[in-house]
Amino acid sequence: MTGLRSLVVRRTGVLSDIRLLVGAPPALATRPIMARIAAAFFAVVGVMGIVVSSVIPEGSTGNRGILLVGAIISVFTGALVLALGRYLSAPAHAGLIAFATVVLTYMLMEAPDPVVTMALSCLYPCIACHAAFVFSWRSAAGLAAFALPLCTFGVTSRPELAWWAALLPVTSTVIVGTGVAILSRVASEADIDSLTGLLNRRGFDRALTAVTTAPGAPPKVAMVLFDLDEFKTTNDRLGHRAGDTMLKNVADRWVQQLGRDAVLARYGGDEFGLLLPNTTEAEAIEIADRMRAAIATDCSAGVTSWRQGDTASLFVGRADIGLYRAKATGRNQTMLESSQRPAVVTELRAALESGTVDVHYQPIVDLAGARRTVGYEALVRWSSSEQPELTPSGLITIAEGSDLIGELGRAVLHRACSDANVIQRATPDIAIVINVNVSCLELVRENYATNVLRIAASTGWPANQLVLEVTESELAADSVQAIAQLQKLRRAGVRIAIDDFGSGYSSLNRLAALPCDVLKIDRPVISDIRSARPMLTAIAALSSAFELELIIEGIESTEQEELLSELGISRAQGYLYGRPQSLDQITTPTAPAHNSPTNPTRRSRL
Ligand code: C2E
Ligand code: MG
Ligand code: MG
Repeated sequence: MTGLRSLVVRRTGVLSDIRLLVGAPPALATRPIMARIAAAFFAVVGVMGIVVSSVIPEGSTGNRGILLVGAIISVFTGALVLALGRYLSAPAHAGLIAFATVVLTYMLMEAPDPVVTMALSCLYPCIACHAAFVFSWRSAAGLAAFALPLCTFGVTSRPELAWWAALLPVTSTVIVGTGVAILSRVASEADIDSLTGLLNRRGFDRALTAVTTAPGAPPKVAMVLFDLDEFKTTNDRLGHRAGDTMLKNVADRWVQQLGRDAVLARYGGDEFGLLLPNTTEAEAIEIADRMRAAIATDCSAGVTSWRQGDTASLFVGRADIGLYRAKATGRNQTMLESSQRPAVVTELRAALESGTVDVHYQPIVDLAGARRTVGYEALVRWSSSEQPELTPSGLITIAEGSDLIGELGRAVLHRACSDANVIQRATPDIAIVINVNVSCLELVRENYATNVLRIAASTGWPANQLVLEVTESELAADSVQAIAQLQKLRRAGVRIAIDDFGSGYSSLNRLAALPCDVLKIDRPVISDIRSARPMLTAIAALSSAFELELIIEGIESTEQEELLSELGISRAQGYLYGRPQSLDQITTPTAPAHNSPTNPTRRSRL
């Protein structure tokens, strides 16, 4: 953890560049570095004192005893600082350096010879170096103001030396100190974000590398990636200055919230990274939530923790997946990336490799056509021995969290398109459509549309008989990547359905912005038949205004079906018409999907 701690940057109120320059030490000024420099300084002063006191010729003017005692104290102080210095605060360090300055001055005065006095005075630039390197400008100037008069006093106290003899050590102390102060600040600026005063991405990556390469037991470190939800809007509407102010305010608020070991960085744009040493995932979630609550703007966060064998990029990548999921599933929330149980993930990966993930099909019927089945929704089915109670929704969450969603989505799509050919041959009188669910995390992948079209072509299933169902709440309408994929698919003839509309946060804005053709209404809308009528009336008007085909999901009773017919809604899906079934069950002529849905022999295995 030393490496990590060595990169911790503490900023107290990053309000202006001037305050930043004057009030903060260079980022290189970490406690271990401070400790080593101070220890080396004491050791050098002490050793020189011991050497000088041992070579003082008998009868010289210096006080050998006092010189030796001072030198030994200095060596011991050096050893102590080396051992414990990293736990000392900056003011304690400043105090030690002041003490060393006093010891040095005393040795100057007690040196046996004016030549030795002049030689020892060469150590004052070391004090300046140390102060300039590890303290803020203000503290360094304070130490210089303390050391320079002492140096002058020490040199001129020798009757053999003229006043101007002090000019040499004093001038070189000032020059060396200023030079080191400037250079160390320039060097550390490379790791600092000039707007917020936090570490920048480079600094954060260095901190990460320190963690990932730390020797010893695997570290218990959590990471949070934050992204401000409204930043782009603020920037566009109010200008970049307002955007900058927003970022600075957020950084200021967050710095106040954090403990001394936390590493906060502006990771880029409106994204912030936080490394939390000695923190569990659960604690990191709490901290992330507290930080989100502390600022005046909406913010999403992804949390993960370090795992054995992680590289820095894997570690960041997992936090990024958490962040993406937080954004894709509604924003302004914290999402843990590693919520899945690893054993289930391993099992799922093996199932995908061996092709044992199953797909069932639930009919979509046309009420105007006497409940004729016009399409099927493909629904993934997989039973896990690790987690027998796992539902299809839970499976999707696990796949999304473990980055298997792409593979799972492709497997389901391939299977659904192949099976659709079989179903189509069994029902040649009508061109059926096949609906396949899509996770948002699939949609944002670069080649998603190309892959879908490739799978449709390779299985021989026409693109215009394929509907992709995207859950409304998951899809961020401003996800340029997702919208571009959807548009490309639509141009190729694939239709897009907004799934589960009406549950949770349904936005008309989003509906207008999304390229879609079909609206699927979630089961809760129809489950209470008394409130269903006005809701469905409004939804029917909405779908007709947006020229969208309407499908009502979750129809379980004839009463619900009658209501749909009354309202002129013709497409429906639900247990009344058939539960999700395997391909065999669907294509077995003795058991047509839409006639006896309550027959237990036809129920889904899962
Ligand atoms: P969904 O896309 O809204 O699918 C409809 C869900 O409602 C299915 O649950 C279906 O079995 C259930 N359902 C249909 N009719 C009725 C009914 O009358 N009553 C009741 N109580 N339930 C009914 P399932 O199969 O458990 O799937 C749940 C969700 O998991 C799906 O909701 C979909 O969002 C997701 N999902 C399923 N398969 C896939 C897949 O292959 N890929 C992706 N990305 N998501 C999938
Ligand atoms: Mg669906
Ligand atoms: Mg649905």
